[in-house]
Amino acid sequence: MFDRASVVTPGGVNSPVRAFRAVGGTPRFMVSGTGPYLTDADGREYVDLVCSWGPMILGHSHPEVIAAVQEAVSRGTSFGTPGEGEVALAEEIVARIEPVEQVRLVSSGTEATMSAIRLARGFTGRAKVVKFAGCYHGHVDALLAAAGSGLATFGLPDTPGVTGATAGDTVVLPYNDLDAVRAAFAAHPGEIACVITEASPGNMGVVPPAEGFNAGLKELCAADGALYISDEVMTGFRTSKAGWYGIDGVHPDLMTFGKVMGGGFPAAAFGGRADVMAHLAPAGPVYQAGTLSGNPVATAAGLAQLRLLDDAAYAKIDAVSAELRSLVGDAFTKEGVAHTVSSASNMFSVFFTDQPVRNYDDAKKQEAFRFTAFFHSMLEQGVYLPPSAFESWFVSTAHDERAVERIAAALPAAARAASEATA
Ligand code: PLP
Repeated sequence: MFDRASVVTPGGVNSPVRAFRAVGGTPRFMVSGTGPYLTDADGREYVDLVCSWGPMILGHSHPEVIAAVQEAVSRGTSFGTPGEGEVALAEEIVARIEPVEQVRLVSSGTEATMSAIRLARGFTGRAKVVKFAGCYHGHVDALLAAAGSGLATFGLPDTPGVTGATAGDTVVLPYNDLDAVRAAFAAHPGEIACVITEASPGNMGVVPPAEGFNAGLKELCAADGALYISDEVMTGFRTSKAGWYGIDGVHPDLMTFGKVMGGGFPAAAFGGRADVMAHLAPAGPVYQAGTLSGNPVATAAGLAQLRLLDDAAYAKIDAVSAELRSLVGDAFTKEGVAHTVSSASNMFSVFFTDQPVRNYDDAKKQEAFRFTAFFHSMLEQGVYLPPSAFESWFVSTAHDERAVERIAAALPAAARAASEATA
């Protein structure tokens, strides 16, 4: 299948990390998923610790989500008109997350962050965007500038196809460094439209914000008249009922969502202050639109999923995550592998270093070659991890005792493989 795919699709995949380039080997083609398990085209079953990169928080093929989808599909797949499902999903988001007074539905996290920064620029009349190295906000041109070091470095495009002009308005700063943010505001007073940050980063591995970092960002933005955008595409409806906002309580001006809120379908959103959202077309002049935005099948899936995510569900996910973190840590300790199990609520990842990881530079100092050996050993033993050392692992309410036991059984050999790996 990979050979076939490679003929008709660049690199054989529709999203680069799926190609296993960071770890080598042939990507598995999955044909079905049930609860915590995925089955590949060769009939092998895996305990899934990727959960579609976050969305499948109830496990695969949850009967109530599937039923909601089937019911929605039976009435048609897209109307291109307003519909009740999208109103209900927006109401659910607004009810859960206090800073979101109004919300606009889109189809991907990329669209959500792209639209949020356009709105921030339209609202403030300013051009510059501050982002942090190691934070990923989708493949938005202006946000692909992740390189650069030192204070207030002007972003250089990270990929051909993004022009210097686009990236030139992006200021890339080291994560968890409020002094760098202060310096950027001092260097560009009245020019910064917004600061966008992952609410708690999961795209350089899991690197939580230091105590007071998000609150400091909010304060610095407010003092300068810039907007504080919290990207909760990954953390939203996962790290708590109200996402990361439910944990740190810092009020963003705008927020972005995706993944969990779509129930496995393409649905995402951005929202926040009503006076800012009022600048969005057709209420205001900032244009944004989408043929499939608020799609009835996607909104039915998302709504069914969110309605099942009560306090008991989060307690279960948090408990499974804690158990796995301790099993993983113990396995590496036993083999003498230098490691840090880094977590933010129920999101976690392993850094192959015993030094603290507070930003992207720290994360890159780990012995990532150990992850490659660990990953392939786990895969061979039927555990599907994210194929990169710089990604969060995800669990679901479906990860029961049997699934955890299968992971626990695979860990000793995989930890040994990590310890024996050479660069
Ligand atoms: N923002 C964050 C924090 C993400 O983790 C991602 C995707 O992983 C995105 C935005 C982009 O979302 P999408 O892949 O749906 O475009």
